[in-house]
Amino acid sequence: TPGIRPLVAGNWKMNGTSASLSELIAIGNGFMKGLETATDALVCVPATLLWRASEILHRTPVKSGGQDCHAKEAGAHTGDISAEMLKDAGASFAIVGHSERRTDHGETDAIVHAKARGAWRAGLISIICIGETREEREAGRTLEVLSRQVAGSVPSSATHATTVIAYEPVWAIGTGLTPSVDDVAEAHAHIRAELEKAIGAEAARTRILYGGSVKPSNAVELLAVQNVDGALVGGASLKAADFLGIAEAY
Ligand code: PEP
Repeated sequence: TPGIRPLVAGNWKMNGTSASLSELIAIGNGFMKGLETATDALVCVPATLLWRASEILHRTPVKSGGQDCHAKEAGAHTGDISAEMLKDAGASFAIVGHSERRTDHGETDAIVHAKARGAWRAGLISIICIGETREEREAGRTLEVLSRQVAGSVPSSATHATTVIAYEPVWAIGTGLTPSVDDVAEAHAHIRAELEKAIGAEAARTRILYGGSVKPSNAVELLAVQNVDGALVGGASLKAADFLGIAEAY
């Protein structure tokens, strides 16, 4: 999108121990070798690795982020992690509302909305994920679902500086399946229009990432689609060569 700098973001999910930090070093090095001029970059690692990841990436253009945060700042929430804790461990971003969180932990649009605000309170940029299931697509309800999720998950005070939207069709995540470029274009144009209803003029400058089985071999095609301002990458972000290969689509 004109005037928008793309973002290639990795999501390691529940993968990675200290042995994986060598991949992160390679990613950081890759972006120091010139890729940084083309795109912003981010890797969202498990919280256990965040401190060390942030130290490794500190001298590179690549940012670190968390994969989720609690809406509150602190308190009696065993096992949860607040946005302030992510920030303290070096994060610049937090993913909220990933479909795996929505499914595994029953997160509703209202919860995702609260988490996005929690991320901002701590000074993090929130990456708000939306996307239809296979059943919803087959029933022809994709655009209606996206409308509902934008209206419910994106706080009206979102700006292009605080918020990134990720369109991730649930059926395309981790499956090797991707929508056609026409379907991606339709979804992203729809999201941009719904975002304008939700946050006004800021929508034109807000990044809308595509996510779902992005890999080096399909990145050029997917990232060239109108209104696609980068990628959220799961599986292919675990290997530096693949992640850098995707960033090279720019
Ligand atoms: C994701 O988890 O956000 C994702 C898009 O996963 P994958 O790239 O593995 O489909």
